[in-house]
Amino acid sequence: MNHAGQVLTARGPAQRRAIAKAITLLESTRADHRAQGDEMLTALLPHTGRSFRIAISGVPGVGKSTFIEVLGLFLIERGHRVAVLTIDPSSSVSGGSILGDKTRMEKLSVHEQAYIRPSPSGGTLGGVAEKTREAMLVCEAAGYDIVIVETVGVGQSETAAAGMTDMFVLLQLPNAGDDLQAIKKGVMELADLVVINKADLDADAATRARAQITSALRIFGQHGHPGHARHDQSVWQAQVLQLSALRGEGLAPFWDAVSRFREIQQANGGWAERRRQQALGWMWERIDAGLKRHFRQHPRVRQLLPQMLADVGGGRLPASTAARRLVQAWQDGASQASGG
Ligand code: GDP
Repeated sequence: MNHAGQVLTARGPAQRRAIAKAITLLESTRADHRAQGDEMLTALLPHTGRSFRIAISGVPGVGKSTFIEVLGLFLIERGHRVAVLTIDPSSSVSGGSILGDKTRMEKLSVHEQAYIRPSPSGGTLGGVAEKTREAMLVCEAAGYDIVIVETVGVGQSETAAAGMTDMFVLLQLPNAGDDLQAIKKGVMELADLVVINKADLDADAATRARAQITSALRIFGQHGHPGHARHDQSVWQAQVLQLSALRGEGLAPFWDAVSRFREIQQANGGWAERRRQQALGWMWERIDAGLKRHFRQHPRVRQLLPQMLADVGGGRLPASTAARRLVQAWQDGASQASGG
């Protein structure tokens, strides 16, 4: 049987192995693997899209893996199957992963109703995000109805995760410095739900943080945020909850809020529109990446590029002029190659 067939029909450990193999195929950079991967994804596509996709983000140490572990087990108890995927581009930049190599989510990772996949390594954030997105489709086709996309909380990986999920959840610590950071980096604006974790450590601080973040979110709500296909603020105002992942307290209210958000979004069309925008955005992003690769590999561009880089870097040529010349050289070459 082919990869897609195994993902769809195998059960238990055999299905987990099939998923792992399918994702490994998608992560391969070999051209023949890519062709096989595309074929597989196309076969799986009719079986995808039925899960609820949740991004969970927050700075290292905020308690993401503790939270995802208890949440995953909570959901499995209620009959769900849970996939956890990760976006951690730091593993390719620094050679070390921010999320670390320690065994995370010990109970969830061995549970047969859960599937956990670490971040694809190597390549740009765009590449890592693409692989994660494709892995998500494989998990959905295999029948996982909750997909959690975890991000490291240090920059652009949040935007990538928000661009592939139905809901963005931001974990915060119960002290003010941390939420200021999130506001500065624009991450707070992405949040559909903010969770103040470790509320067991300092109840007063958690309450203060909740009030502060709630008022910050109101301001974002009034002004909106360009570039993020946000739900209608009049229908859903981002909420702030308190929780203790360590003690497993606050999970039920959390899941109630998620379910409410999901119902509202599905009823008012926000959910379908968000997914439509994401699919189109993804297509354009992949076109951009494909064109750039073609451009960089083109013989005329390769011939011209070192000189242009030197001239722009040395201040002898305006960047815009160099860019125009390079694109022109590429277009001339491309139209000659196609006989035009
Ligand atoms: P991550 O880096 O965001 O994945 O954070 P971890 O889940 O690894 O948690 C970092 C540390 O915080 C660990 O020592 C956890 O035991 C602890 N921790 C996580 N959640 C809570 C919580 O709700 N309360 C307390 N007191 N500690 C927590």
